[in-house]
Amino acid sequence: MRDRKLKLKSAALFILVFLVSIPSHISAQRKTAPAVSSASRGPLVTKDPEIAKLVKEIDARNIERTIRKLVSFGTRNTLSEQDNPTRGIGAARDWLFSEFQKAAATSGGRMTVEKQTFEQAKAERVPQPTMLTNIVATLKGTQPESENRMYVVSGHYDSMCSSPTNAKCDAPGANDDASGTAAVLEMARVMATHTFDATIVFMTVPGEEQGLLGATHYAEEAKKKNLDIEAMFTNDIIGNSLGGNGVRDPHTVRVFSEGVPTNETEAEARTRRSVGGENDSPSRQLARFIKESGERYVRGMKVWLIYRRDRYGRGGDHQPFLERGYAAVRFTEPNENYDHQHQNVRMENGVQYGDLPEFDDFNYIADVARVNAAALASLASAPARPKNVLVASGLANDTNLTWEANKEPDLAGYEIVWRDTTEALWTNSRWVGNVTSYAMKGMSKDNSFFGVRAVDKQGTRSPASYPKPAPRTSTRNPA
Ligand SMILES: [Zn+2]
Repeated sequence: MRDRKLKLKSAALFILVFLVSIPSHISAQRKTAPAVSSASRGPLVTKDPEIAKLVKEIDARNIERTIRKLVSFGTRNTLSEQDNPTRGIGAARDWLFSEFQKAAATSGGRMTVEKQTFEQAKAERVPQPTMLTNIVATLKGTQPESENRMYVVSGHYDSMCSSPTNAKCDAPGANDDASGTAAVLEMARVMATHTFDATIVFMTVPGEEQGLLGATHYAEEAKKKNLDIEAMFTNDIIGNSLGGNGVRDPHTVRVFSEGVPTNETEAEARTRRSVGGENDSPSRQLARFIKESGERYVRGMKVWLIYRRDRYGRGGDHQPFLERGYAAVRFTEPNENYDHQHQNVRMENGVQYGDLPEFDDFNYIADVARVNAAALASLASAPARPKNVLVASGLANDTNLTWEANKEPDLAGYEIVWRDTTEALWTNSRWVGNVTSYAMKGMSKDNSFFGVRAVDKQGTRSPASYPKPAPRTSTRNPA
């Protein structure tokens, strides 16, 4: 107790010193946006010791073992053998299923593992109807008000050589995407022994190289069942810290997020354009949340936010989720090497081609898994992001925000965040207590972007919700 008081005192002193030391041009610029509100500050942002602990439990040696095992099946092409115990995608599927079951066995009955099998009809890269199997491990949340809220983390276990329909060639896929698969399995192993308010789904899917088929099936089933998936992460090509451009960077992971929601209606798009909301989709808020929580818990790792859906003109397993209205992002290494993606294993003019394990950096993959785990654990421990957040229309120099009350029993209240319209990340926050409306006095909605976050009693924040314009109260709002 005495320790805590001391810490609080030194924190207060630090804030005071910081405030005093803000250069005058910054405080002038921020005249309408005080860094600290005069009201109570609400629960402090602190590190949750349980999240810090599980992040440390992620082990690069397990990730290496998984990748070498997956590579040992020769190929994991989606069209390869299904019933050979040592070669082909069937062997990988069965091995992954048994590994997730081992993780589930440590969860006290909270994690269940399912083979979600379906027949994929003939498609561009599927010459004949083929059985595909998603491996889905679900760790149930422990808070009744939150157990239906879900967070999905995924990697694809299929691989390819130069031709996506060649089922015979060796396709080690050590980076694309044994790296993502191994990260997901390691997260399941570690997180199964911890408890979270909301539910986390650890998934590995086939058919990515055939056209995002496994992920599409899962997302479509989720939509039909009306599942409350609050976020989806795909980890795809997170294995190599040395790029084809010669840059070695084991301290950065890219997180791709779309700005304008893929599935919004024309009417929603019109509204978004009218208020300048192109940088504030739910996926973009999720990406900002990942940067904050990932960098808080994983020292030395930088989350490099890329403000586009995926790499230029390319796609991944988060797309089928986006198309169905779920917030989703992609994790990928910072510098790719195309000699080691989608290539037959071969030597050519002294250059080794192929997606081989010797080009993976297992410690780097472990760090990317830690960033994922920190963000997932923070999401699943935090209250849900506030729903139905509205900003009052009409002419006013105050910004009036309203939202629906959260239902979690450990909710402390809410925080308003804001930033200048040209800022990439939220720069300011104000604790407003356990209310469902708040007026930002003297701050016009014309000049800043606002968001609302829910905060629990431990100080865990939800991602921000970006307000929609409330229906207008007057018939005309003249320019
Ligand atoms: Zn891939």
